[in-house]
Amino acid sequence: MAYWEEQSECCPREDLEQLQLERLQSVINRVYKNVAFYRALFDGERIVPEDVGSLDAFTKLPFTTKKDLEKNYPYGMFAVPLREVVRIHTTTDTIDTPTVVGYTAHDLKTWSDLVARFLLSGGASRDDVIQVSFHYGLFTGAFGLHHGAEKIGASVIPASSENTEKQIRIMQDYRTTVLVSTPSYALFLADTLEEMGIDPKQMMLKKGLFGGEIWSDKTRADIQERLYIEAFDNYGVSELMGPGIAGECREKQGLHIVEDHVLPEIIDPETGESLPPGKTGELVLTTLTREAFPLVRYRTGDITSLDYGTCACGRTMVRMKRIERRTDDLIIIKGINVDPHQIEKVLLEIEGCEPHYQVIVRRENNRDHLVVNVAVSENIFFDELRLQESFVEKVRTALGRRLNVRVDVKLMERKSLEESLKKSPKIVDSREL
Ligand SMILES: [Zn+2]
Repeated sequence: MAYWEEQSECCPREDLEQLQLERLQSVINRVYKNVAFYRALFDGERIVPEDVGSLDAFTKLPFTTKKDLEKNYPYGMFAVPLREVVRIHTTTDTIDTPTVVGYTAHDLKTWSDLVARFLLSGGASRDDVIQVSFHYGLFTGAFGLHHGAEKIGASVIPASSENTEKQIRIMQDYRTTVLVSTPSYALFLADTLEEMGIDPKQMMLKKGLFGGEIWSDKTRADIQERLYIEAFDNYGVSELMGPGIAGECREKQGLHIVEDHVLPEIIDPETGESLPPGKTGELVLTTLTREAFPLVRYRTGDITSLDYGTCACGRTMVRMKRIERRTDDLIIIKGINVDPHQIEKVLLEIEGCEPHYQVIVRRENNRDHLVVNVAVSENIFFDELRLQESFVEKVRTALGRRLNVRVDVKLMERKSLEESLKKSPKIVDSREL
């Protein structure tokens, strides 16, 4: 059994809790001193860092939300001067209200170590050829996995978002053994292999480490059967650092959270009350070691539960159940967060469009499709088909640009859209996640 940082990963719970408390106190002190947002937040609640003497007292602190991060765009949440920041990522690749996340050199080192942990826990090693099929860009996925994979000494191929035929060619010629991508991309790859008449059994691929999307056990079974690989789930939060927050071990009974670096809690998403171990609720995370971008009680919007029972792999770190759903409307497509409220903003900017819409997400041939039904003013329903087509194209381009995913647009009369909204919700996600 290989661990990357055995002492930490298998640390007795008592010692771990002591370490968490020490690190927590130092984080609270640091954010109070260096981040104006936190100082104002704590002052408003009449809390001084000295009050947070126990884990129990800690759960009385206010939450940090995505809205707080948006308000402090771009650098307001940084706890170090910019000259100490050596890397900048954003939470989405879209240009609209991303959260800008900074890393110090030490943060980057920690990040790659934490990714190395789940790579090893999923059985990857220095003998592997790891193909990273995430887009290399502002988004955290590709770089996070890349540096972790290098750290364990594997041979890393930054295949990025090359087209699928090329990905397959690389996979065959360079003898890739581990695929890193979203689960839906793995299924699409399986389809393409089938179309090309390539038998995955003839390839060297053994494992897949998948993240960036919510996916079911059924999808896992499909991937494993069709690509002849073992598939592992890992979990990241780009506001915290990206991948590396949690990952499955070979037991696949939940994802071990890196508790010595991130403190997890489960709350009731409605009331904000802390929930006891085992109960299902919203995951709240506090960074314990982040220098540039510390977050206190950050609401992830992901619904899960925590299992503090012992795991056969020997790791003592708590396991979180695989994410099944979120608390908000966020739609995750190919690892990209799509906020439906952005759609409304775009529609408001286009003359002839009304800010009324319905979003349909479907999975066809293992590719996700986003269809937006848009209400248009009556006089837009001109008889000329050509004009109508160019109008659709205009809306499609504007939405695609803003959301950074391909969007299909269907124009509807306001009345028929309202009829449709009576029968089904504003966001219909028919994918079986
Ligand atoms: Zn385990």
